Amino acid sequence: LSGPPYELAVRGGRFLTCGPDVPEGSTLLVRRGLIGGFAKPGEIFQAKRTIDASHRIVMPGLVNAHTHAAMSLFRGLADDLPLSAWLGRIWPAEAAAVSPEMVYWCSLLSCCEMLLSGTTLFGDSYFFEEEVARAAERAGVRAVCGQGVIDLAAPDAPAGQGLKRLRSYLENFSASALTRPAVFCHSVYGCSPETLAKAWELAGQFGRKFFIHLAETAAEVRECVRRRGVTPLRLLERLGLLSESCVLVHAVHLEKGETRLAAERGVAAVHCPESNMKLAAGIAPLGLLRRAGVRLALGSDSAASNNDLDMFREMGTAARLHRLAAPVDAAPGAAEIFWLATGAGAEVLGFECGVLEPGRLADLVILEPNQPHLWPEGPGAEQLVFCGRGADVRTVVVGGEVVVEERRLTRVDAAEVMARVRELAREAGLGGKG
Ligand SMILES: [Zn+2]
Repeated sequence: LSGPPYELAVRGGRFLTCGPDVPEGSTLLVRRGLIGGFAKPGEIFQAKRTIDASHRIVMPGLVNAHTHAAMSLFRGLADDLPLSAWLGRIWPAEAAAVSPEMVYWCSLLSCCEMLLSGTTLFGDSYFFEEEVARAAERAGVRAVCGQGVIDLAAPDAPAGQGLKRLRSYLENFSASALTRPAVFCHSVYGCSPETLAKAWELAGQFGRKFFIHLAETAAEVRECVRRRGVTPLRLLERLGLLSESCVLVHAVHLEKGETRLAAERGVAAVHCPESNMKLAAGIAPLGLLRRAGVRLALGSDSAASNNDLDMFREMGTAARLHRLAAPVDAAPGAAEIFWLATGAGAEVLGFECGVLEPGRLADLVILEPNQPHLWPEGPGAEQLVFCGRGADVRTVVVGGEVVVEERRLTRVDAAEVMARVRELAREAGLGGKG
């Protein structure tokens, strides 16, 4: 613990590290944005700044592995509709409202919501993704920014120009400590096999991850079999797309053989239970996926299909849902669900965070457990999965920087962002009262 002073010290409290245990009352030390080590209670160290988190819980920042941050504008639009009818409302609204300015401000709103509920890294998939990156940089949250590709006209590319747009996006994106580019093909019904193969090639050429909504509904699988002769997953296999950089979002309607194939190819899958419930898509076979060995993460999907980005709620839903979906003894336990939203999610998105241990990124959350709904204090992560709320988050650190301090965002004026988004909603004829 010698050398120059540490940038930041976080004195616990109880540490939920998701890795090796750390004694209560230890102090987490940050140097150059990384966790430099832990000082034992009473051990001497020097730090420029110390946060007192005694009587609190210190845990890794949460990872939301799939969202469309800009869609916060459409929160509350077309609630109560299943996926196909919901898309029938959302797509025209997007055609009318999506612009670089809209993506920036509405993504910034989501960044505020995510940080205030303990998310420090998210996987995004939308259009004008440079603007998502700009919003993430401004708020101080990490993001993998997946530029959307569809065959029809997109808000940022005319029909048939999506790949050209993707190439220039990948060429011009300047990755930073916080943000990285990625490729997002909407789905096997939104992209032709040729488009999928070419987008995949570009992802490989630039060394980026490839995201796709896959097997979200039974209708998608039926339609793919009718048009292409194979299921969506087997279509990707036929095109040579299944590998470690491929991230399947939803993966609801997969058979046992498909889960094994996905595991063999090293593919990852993002489970979005609240979106799947809200849009009546079905229940993902989490038991099959984990037994097959598919790398898993947890995501909220957009604020239009959830309708919040609170990963505590998402974890609670996942933990409860799978007790109905599978035999209780095959359902993942709450501790495993917590892992999906921390270390496992970080691994799927390719960032060295999600675990509080030396050498990892100093991305952490300080939570207030001394509240009636969390009392008496439970010993592990289970309590937070079943009873925790985003609003329990007090302070958030990303890369050693305090970006939320006692529930106040340090880099962004949330009231200004909300006012801008209300104006955008009014301009788009989406209500925006108040
Ligand atoms: Zn999605």
